[in-house]
Amino acid sequence: MPEIEVREIRENVMGLFANQQIEKGKIILMLRGDKISKPTKTSIQIGDKQHIEDPKGGFINHHCNPNAEINIHSSFVGSNPVSRSETNTTALVVAKKTISKDDEITFDYETTEEKLAFPFLCDCHGRLIE
Ligand SMILES: [Zn+2]
Repeated sequence: MPEIEVREIRENVMGLFANQQIEKGKIILMLRGDKISKPTKTSIQIGDKQHIEDPKGGFINHHCNPNAEINIHSSFVGSNPVSRSETNTTALVVAKKTISKDDEITFDYETTEEKLAFPFLCDCHGRLIE
């Protein structure tokens, strides 16, 4: 996994940054953390009523033309088709384009979130992201 870190962009605004160049297609982060049924300001939606609070992923800011995306892979657990209700979900943050050292890592919140806990106007276009 590439080296990434949470940095302060301006007062009270944090973001996730690349400490090294990350090539397009490379995995930046595997989301891990508490799974919750309702979204929060920092959670990322990975399924129906499934939101994950990743300690680093929660700092990734929205961009309408982002350099990363969230890839979600779900697989059923167990071999009995009747009881296969439990799913095993892996959510990866993947570079959509080559990311330079010290670039902020962003993704489009509207690609993952059904409904944001806190809708906001995006910094790039002033569009309402909800
Ligand atoms: Zn925007």
